Amino acid sequence: MSHIAFIGLGNMGLPMARNLLKAAFKVSAYDLQEEALQALVAEGAYAAQSALEAADGAEVVISMLPASRHVEGLYLGENGLLANLLAGTLVLECSTIAPDSARRVHQAARARGIEMLDAPVSGGTAGAAAGTLTFMVGGDPVCLERARPYFSVMGSNIFHAGAEGSGQVAKVCNNQVLAVQMIATAEAMAMGVANGLQPAVLAEIMRQSSGGNWTLEKYNPWPGVMPQAPASRGYTGGFMAELMSKDLSLAQETALASGNSTPMGALALHLYRLLTKQGLGKQDFSVVQQLFID
Ligand code: NAD
Repeated sequence: MSHIAFIGLGNMGLPMARNLLKAAFKVSAYDLQEEALQALVAEGAYAAQSALEAADGAEVVISMLPASRHVEGLYLGENGLLANLLAGTLVLECSTIAPDSARRVHQAARARGIEMLDAPVSGGTAGAAAGTLTFMVGGDPVCLERARPYFSVMGSNIFHAGAEGSGQVAKVCNNQVLAVQMIATAEAMAMGVANGLQPAVLAEIMRQSSGGNWTLEKYNPWPGVMPQAPASRGYTGGFMAELMSKDLSLAQETALASGNSTPMGALALHLYRLLTKQGLGKQDFSVVQQLFID
């Protein structure tokens, strides 16, 4: 089986790497946090002391880091991975980052004969654990066929979005919709409950009516409505509000560059920025519910 280096074992990376181990791939892992690394060692991974060590001898490198600066720091520059990987290595960059940042990494990879795809994901931590993520892939479609066996272990929907950086464009469009739906759902839940409805009853009515959306299906922001949702475990173990704020900034940058008007996305960005300023940035993004409860 192929040898995979997995860099970044956070809320998403850890369950994704677990699925690769379950599928009998050899995994060398690296994360700045020793605790995350040890969690994967217990399941058969090799714990590297650096990204370079993890990538030594690997045919495939997968990264799942917070933002553009972490990804560029990992891959670019004299001490970056791209300068040290063998030609022919396959790089699957799965973090959500700026499309232009992804294109910079693509360019540097191409110059070194390394095949790369930008492949951000959707589906949350539950999708990562279940191996049912959606991959939105930018880059060479032939390279996507080489990567398909790895994506298939971690996800169930694999889309070729287009040329280099297109996976990231699709991802920021998607997350802008997600943020707007989450905020709309949270304010409606608060209004209904303030007017005497039971949260679970209101949630089910809206889920099966024309207001139905992904947050009502899988990720209700009201504590206790969905036992498996982050809201029911103190808004932990999900998708941090500060990362949603980052994605909404990327969406605004993308819209400005192409001259599009995205007023809903702008409003969502500012609400998430305020949440982060209130100290709630490390909590799951459904914590926006708290803005609407007295
Ligand atoms: P996270 O903060 O939980 O995990 C990131 C991990 O990267 C951390 O463990 C951190 O220690 C590690 N890290 C940072 N810099 C590093 C470096 N230089 N070398 C090695 N490790 C490093 O974030 P997450 O929720 O897992 O999200 C990761 C990416 O996936 C983000 O881009 C996010 O926007 C995206 N995403 C998250 C979700 C979600 O539901 N959490 C869903 C879809 C996409």
